[in-house]
Amino acid sequence: MDRAALEAGLAELPILQYEFISTSLLTFSERVRHICETECPMYGKTWACPPGVGSVAECRARCLRYPEALLLTTAAEVRDAADMTETLATRGEHEAIVRQAEALLRAQGLDTYALSAEACARCAHCTCPDAPCRFPAQLHPCIESHGIVVTDLAEKLGITFLAGNVVTWFSILFFREP
Ligand code: SF4
Repeated sequence: MDRAALEAGLAELPILQYEFISTSLLTFSERVRHICETECPMYGKTWACPPGVGSVAECRARCLRYPEALLLTTAAEVRDAADMTETLATRGEHEAIVRQAEALLRAQGLDTYALSAEACARCAHCTCPDAPCRFPAQLHPCIESHGIVVTDLAEKLGITFLAGNVVTWFSILFFREP
C-alpha cells in the first residue's frame, strides 16, 4: 500500500479527523447490541442491521480478519442537534465521503469492509429476512450493529466529538492486502 498516495487522496476529502488503527484496539460488547435490539426501530428490518449482520461474535470475527482499519469522522452543522430529522438528513453527505475513502483504499488494491452509520435504505422493499441482500458489497452497516464500543475507541484515540449544533459522524473502514 502506498500510504502517502492514500493520505494525499484523503486530504482532498472533507474529513474532520482520521487515524489508521490496529483492529486489536476495538472493544466488542453484547451491551451495545442490546441497545440496537431494544431502542432502534430498524432492528431486524435490513441486512445492514442486527440480527441480519450476524451475532456479535460473528461480527467480531469478521472485523478481526482485517489487521488494520481507517477510522474517520466528518462534521455537519445543524440548527438543532436534538432534531433527529435534521441530524439524520446530514448522514448522506457523510456516507458519500465514506464511499470515496473506500474507493481510495480499493484503488490501492486493498480488500475492504466498511462500517458506518447506515440502516440500509437502498431498495424500496428490503429482502430481509426472506432472501439474501441484493447488494451486499455496498452495505455499510452501522458501527454499533457489530457491538463495537465507539466511545471507548474515541477515548483511546483522542477522537473529538464536536459539541453544540454540530453532528460528528464516525466510520471504520477495515482493510487488508488481498
Ligand atoms: S441493499 Fe436492499 S436488500 Fe440489501 S440490505 Fe439494503 S435494502 Fe435490504
